[in-house]
Amino acid sequence: EARRQASHLGKPALTAAGERVLTYINVDDPHILPAVDPASCDGVGLTRTEFLFSGEGGLPGEGRQLGAYKALMRWAGGRPVTIRTLDAGGDKPIPGLTPDGESNPFLGLRGLRLSLARPDVFRVQLRALARAAIEGELKVMLPMVTRPQELDATRAMFRQVVSELLAEGIPAAMPKLGMMVEVPAAALNIAAFDADFFSIGSNDLVQYVTAAGRDCEAVRDLYDPLEPGVLELIHRVAEHGRLTGREVSLCGDMASDPKYLPALLDAGLRAVSVAPARLARAKAEIAGYG
Ligand code: PEP
Ligand code: MG
Repeated sequence: EARRQASHLGKPALTAAGERVLTYINVDDPHILPAVDPASCDGVGLTRTEFLFSGEGGLPGEGRQLGAYKALMRWAGGRPVTIRTLDAGGDKPIPGLTPDGESNPFLGLRGLRLSLARPDVFRVQLRALARAAIEGELKVMLPMVTRPQELDATRAMFRQVVSELLAEGIPAAMPKLGMMVEVPAAALNIAAFDADFFSIGSNDLVQYVTAAGRDCEAVRDLYDPLEPGVLELIHRVAEHGRLTGREVSLCGDMASDPKYLPALLDAGLRAVSVAPARLARAKAEIAGYG
């Protein structure tokens, strides 16, 4: 069985009906990359940059971030690399950066909200990303976007950072700018967002739609990725992407679990991003679909 799954690794994922499904990997920690063959996937669908921020050494400077982003792009060898801006807060607290004492951190100052509240920190990351953008196909993704204005404000800030770098004589470019769809308000209002691509964050979307915490064992049965309201939102976002020619993928754990893949493909998704260890199993499941 493992051999049969592994045999899918070397080929692009196609459904039984011959439809191409982009299969990216999630990178939580780039240390795992040497063990992954980049040719086994279509690129990186999510990089959780929290790994850079959670170490002992305090906040990472522009140079250290640039080094990490360039290493990822070098590994990917021309395949697209999606790097998510800092998603601190909620289940990912960063001491000294995320607020203490919030009564409900999942509904608080987390993700892009925190980055916009801390332009001193955010601008360093945007500078590093703008410099990495000249190295290959970089896609920058924003977490926890709720309103179109947040995306617009970020795009404006990003453009300003690019002009500043160029004025300093440092090569830089504006990458594609996309967003996570993990807040129900954003999923319901998807057409209002000026994003270059979308990636559904089912880990958070499921918890916000069902009002059942992603880390709360006592309500585990309510935290159901197959809840009709969740599938309806995924379907609507996929349809919006199809009609407007923008990529919609899904990078939450739901995509890494083969038992949910048929529902995602039924909902219209044709791109997923999975944990590297789940890639072979996911590609095998896709091959059996339809
Ligand atoms: C998600 O919410 O599904 C997601 C991919 O992001 P994270 O798990 O890092 O919140
Ligand atoms: Mg999330």
